Amino acid sequence: MNKTQIKKYLNYLKVKKFYKMKFFKCEICNEKKTKLIQKKISWNNNKFGDLPIHACTSCGFLFQNPRFNKEFYMGYYKNSYRAITLDTFKPPKNYLADQEKRGNLLFEFLKKYLPKKGSMLDVGSSVGMMMKPFLKRGWKCQGNDPVKSFVDYGREKLKLPVEWLQSEDMKLKDNSLDLIIIMGSLEHVTDVNIVMKKIEKAIKKNGILVIEARGDPLGYQKNFFNHSHHRYFFGNTMELIMRKYGWEPFITTKYPITGSSRPNTQFCIGRYKGNEVKKSFKNLVKNGKKETVLDVIYKLKYHDYLAKKLKNNFIKIGASHPKN
Ligand SMILES: [Zn+2]
Repeated sequence: MNKTQIKKYLNYLKVKKFYKMKFFKCEICNEKKTKLIQKKISWNNNKFGDLPIHACTSCGFLFQNPRFNKEFYMGYYKNSYRAITLDTFKPPKNYLADQEKRGNLLFEFLKKYLPKKGSMLDVGSSVGMMMKPFLKRGWKCQGNDPVKSFVDYGREKLKLPVEWLQSEDMKLKDNSLDLIIIMGSLEHVTDVNIVMKKIEKAIKKNGILVIEARGDPLGYQKNFFNHSHHRYFFGNTMELIMRKYGWEPFITTKYPITGSSRPNTQFCIGRYKGNEVKKSFKNLVKNGKKETVLDVIYKLKYHDYLAKKLKNNFIKIGASHPKN
């Protein structure tokens, strides 16, 4: 991205200060070499612009490259994010109802893996409604989110235990949590490794981690790649990031675990084992737990092909919650 391209994007975000962008290594396997996959992506509301997506040449992880620094994203999530994505600072009624419903379904799915009562954390909780079924059953809950207006609404109007912060700044008690959920938020955080390190310290042995990601594109890749997603997890990369931090994934699935409001999202659920899992991470990618750049390109091309062939008859283009 040259200066003019960056300025154009910052202008769109209504960010007045100029910020530099820099190139990143693969956040999963540390590989420096990445390959450009898509140059122009969705800036929301049918607006497209430069914001390149690269694939890691080693494990196939897809992410925005280059990117801004943390200071930029803190300000962005505080001031512009929901204003651009939901056109309002107040959570709409149907959004709240959907979060509660998703929380109920998640609880039903997870309960057989969990203690009757325990302690949970929702990273990127928004207003915090997904924790409601757990709170009702006596769980100790805490959530956090960088969008202040939604956190304020959750705390003040809904009396939910949510905190306004970037997940990189979480302060968690060591060895204190039975369950951590990250529902579609790991794509948005600024530094995924800081977040994973923090939650690893806070989880108890055998504690459960649930990651939900957007999943495969439902439709054209230029709609799928959206500027508020800094990275794109699929089944394989969710399993890799879990293993890197000591979780052993036991379900990776496209089951509609939280209902049908976010079609095509993928889930990975793991149990914390610590070093016995972490120590095997180093050779995993080398031994074939990866997607090649070609695998990734073919997958995206396949979805472009489907979208073109089937139009709206079979799949709804961009139905996978493109707006957040
Ligand atoms: Zn990689």
